[in-house]
Amino acid sequence: MYTSTEPCLMCAGAIYLSGIGRVVYALAAKDLASLPGASDRVRMVPTPMAEALAGGDGRPEIRHQPMGPAALEPHIDYWKGQSR
Ligand SMILES: [Zn+2]
Repeated sequence: MYTSTEPCLMCAGAIYLSGIGRVVYALAAKDLASLPGASDRVRMVPTPMAEALAGGDGRPEIRHQPMGPAALEPHIDYWKGQSR
C-alpha cells in the first residue's frame, strides 16, 4: 500500500487485519501535526503506525519515504480551517 501520509491508529488496525504486506508513506504523522489546525486533532492519535504495530509478526513492513515539503503541501489548506 502506498499512501501520502502515515496511517492513523484506526487505519493501522485495518491494514494489519487485512494482511497488507507493506506500507510506504511520504509524510510522517508528527510532520502533519506540525501544521496549524492539525496539531489539536492529530495529537489525538499520537502513536506512529510503526510503534503501534511493533511487537507483532513484522507485517506489514512499514517504510517512510520522505518527499520533503511536497508531501505537506496538499494538507496546508485543509487544516487551516480545522482549528478548534
Ligand atoms: Zn486513518
